[in-house]
Amino acid sequence: MMSRAQPAFLALVVLASACGTSGEGTSARVPAKTAATAPDTQHASAVPPASEPLATRLGDDASNSGVTATVRLASAESDSAGFQRAEGRVVNELGRIPILEYHLIGDSDGRWMVERGRFREQLKLLYERGYRPITVAELVDGKIDLPAGQSPVVFTFDDASPSQFSYLERDGRLEVDPNSAVGIWLAFHAAHPDWGKKATFCLLPGAAAGRSFFGDKGIEGQKTEWRMKKVRFLAEQGFELCNHTLWHANLANYPDSVVRQQIARGNLAIDSAVAGYHVRTFALPLGMWPRNRALARAGSWRDPKSGREVVYKYDAVLMVAGGPARSPFDPLFDPYRLPRVQVYGNELEKTLDQLERTRYVASGIAPNSRARSAKRPVGH
Ligand SMILES: [Zn+2]
Repeated sequence: MMSRAQPAFLALVVLASACGTSGEGTSARVPAKTAATAPDTQHASAVPPASEPLATRLGDDASNSGVTATVRLASAESDSAGFQRAEGRVVNELGRIPILEYHLIGDSDGRWMVERGRFREQLKLLYERGYRPITVAELVDGKIDLPAGQSPVVFTFDDASPSQFSYLERDGRLEVDPNSAVGIWLAFHAAHPDWGKKATFCLLPGAAAGRSFFGDKGIEGQKTEWRMKKVRFLAEQGFELCNHTLWHANLANYPDSVVRQQIARGNLAIDSAVAGYHVRTFALPLGMWPRNRALARAGSWRDPKSGREVVYKYDAVLMVAGGPARSPFDPLFDPYRLPRVQVYGNELEKTLDQLERTRYVASGIAPNSRARSAKRPVGH
């Protein structure tokens, strides 16, 4: 078996020869949207410049460009054997990326619950099929720093239930419950260090039935005073904190003033747990847009108690369904309407099977190299 560095290197060499030019040829397949592009760029302005012909051609296809990208890369294989392949997969950085949506992790399987043994198996399944986790923020930044041949997967956990993150108190010390999602994740990370601590938690600070930063009032054994500690722990470990409103209001049913308050107070609560934390991702409760859709992306609210103006502005808005997402390098990628895959029953297995030919497969070229080469003119 080759070391991880080798496939990435080979892919780069093969690519350069495929373009029939010097190393500058690599920029021909540089993603349309790189780290050099502002992550909050509007979808309409994310069309690649003319200096990126491959991406531009792919962008001409109005839909399903993940499929198109695979086909075009495969056709490159037939004319000069200069296509990129790594770990047995055709490199495809315009392919699809699943953003998985989890709710409860518990004792049995259900529409909104994944049995915890099954959750462990899902991590293993993804790992073995060459997926590695990234956060939503990394997705929208195009920061997909994976070895050649591997694919990104985004985990999102909604509603901040104790089943996602609970503590056990032993001899006066707090331990992460190994049966909560965070405990399972940390154990998997310890056994597989290249499975990073990368997931996005869409939090509710003030919902009913213990949905308040992973539990309060003794619900499911979780003490109110542990809440902030949990949120801080996640941030310190590198997980992403995402806002899911104050108490999960259906934003379609409320006037703008309530929408602003619901969203701003979610941010405010995260800030009170992790001072200065920049919340970049917002998840729509129930997938429902406010009547004034722009308020899901940016807005402000004045706290009547303190007189303080709370301003929010997101780089990503998560919906609740819609299938695997486009690549951030696809000109049609829209960070403000990110679709997700709800995980229940066999949905994950089905989705992975469907993605087999259209999935994003990394080239192994570091994001920094991409940003540099993207600025060079293409020699075609
Ligand atoms: Zn929710």
